[in-house]
Amino acid sequence: MYDAIVVGLGPAGAVTAAELARAGLSVLGLEWKAVPRYKVCGGGLSARIDRLLEPDFHPLIEDTIHAVRFRFAGTESFEVVSREPIAFMVMRDRFDAHLVRKAEARGVRILDNERVVSVSEGADGVAVTTARGWYRARIVVGADGANSVVARSLFAGRRGRLWGALEGEVAVPRIPSSLGAGAIALDIGVVPWGYAWVFPKEGRLSVGVAGLHGRERNPKGCYDRFVQGEPTLTGIEVPRGLGHPIPLYGGRPAERMPLATKRAVLVGDAAHLVDPVLGEGIYYAILSGRMAAVSIVDHLHGLTPDLTAYDAEVAREIYPEFRVAARMAWAVYTFPRIMHQALRRGPEVVRLYYDVLKGRETYQSFFAKIRGKAEAFFARLVREKAASVFSRGCSGRSR
Ligand SMILES: Cc1cc2nc3c(=O)[nH]c(=O)nc-3n(C[C@H](O)[C@H](O)[C@H](O)COP(=O)(O)OP(=O)(O)OC[C@H]3O[C@@H](n4cnc5c(N)ncnc54)[C@H](O)[C@@H]3O)c2cc1C
Repeated sequence: MYDAIVVGLGPAGAVTAAELARAGLSVLGLEWKAVPRYKVCGGGLSARIDRLLEPDFHPLIEDTIHAVRFRFAGTESFEVVSREPIAFMVMRDRFDAHLVRKAEARGVRILDNERVVSVSEGADGVAVTTARGWYRARIVVGADGANSVVARSLFAGRRGRLWGALEGEVAVPRIPSSLGAGAIALDIGVVPWGYAWVFPKEGRLSVGVAGLHGRERNPKGCYDRFVQGEPTLTGIEVPRGLGHPIPLYGGRPAERMPLATKRAVLVGDAAHLVDPVLGEGIYYAILSGRMAAVSIVDHLHGLTPDLTAYDAEVAREIYPEFRVAARMAWAVYTFPRIMHQALRRGPEVVRLYYDVLKGRETYQSFFAKIRGKAEAFFARLVREKAASVFSRGCSGRSR
């Protein structure tokens, strides 16, 4: 019997497992795919990741981002530059394998090519059944991503919001000059309720689209439209995109159901801990993994009666951030053209948002600083819209 079994060894699982082993617990990590495994992902780490991880992942950084080139449907381009890094680009197979190796070095027993098919929880432990056998532990951690078996087995009724996403990688001899060194391209005019991107890596570009399921029923059409219209990709043969859901935090009560039972916790994508503005999940996967590990260690050392401290910490540290982010996402993706024009006229707001990605501001402090501007902006917008409707109405009558 292990102290803990961690299901899934992406960033959330690898970091949780490493932290548990560091505290002296016996830990088994089960991963469906062979490590290193490919993951459909932009591989963009916001620069604040340095607050969570030791710097030994830096040799895996393929590009450091200092600028974002914003576009609306391939046009109306503008760039906002930052002196300090905003983000780091990694390939997920190498980055995730690095975290798994670190967990292994801390003493975690790693079994890859080991798909978990079901999990059950009893009074004295959990039983985890895989395609090859079964294992027992005192605690199970669901770090098995967007389609989590652990969530489905032990957290019945949990539902959340999903972004559909498609991404492709294309080899390039050099980064296109229309993108520029150390820059990414973001377009909020191609995908209804979402955005499209080009992220540079060493000798390749990651190209993708992500948008809300239900509103966008043709992500492939969006992807093709973006690839054809994005100036950075002119003359480049981009392969077709691979699909994967992004489990966003949406803020509805069903999405805020507990993340802990008596013997199980959910972390990362399995817990829908993805920022609703950008779909950034790696940072929160690692953050939630570390929070969960503290709570499990305290509980197994007899310091706390259960695992609810994890829930409480997510509710205290992450949900208030996501609630503000969800309001911002609503504004940006409901009025994409207007927001694009507003950001073009107000690059200082973009720079302040960069400070969130650098870890200098939180979403809450960011919003407090721009709130006055945002309210004045929307009030003016409503006045202008109303004026234009009335003037159209008057000219209609006079004709
Ligand atoms: C197209 C796209 C682009 C993205 N771009 C970014 C980005 O640029 N930056 C960012 O921060 N986030 C991005 N994300 C989100 C990011 O990929 C996730 O939030 C992040 O991977 C979550 O980490 P995780 O460890 O929770 O889950 P995952 O990384 O999904 O890891 C889960 C692991 O569990 C394993 N697993 C699944 N089922 C089982 C099972 N039954 N048994 C055993 N193992 C199992 C999987 O093989 C996988 O290795 C993107 C997502 C998509 C789809």
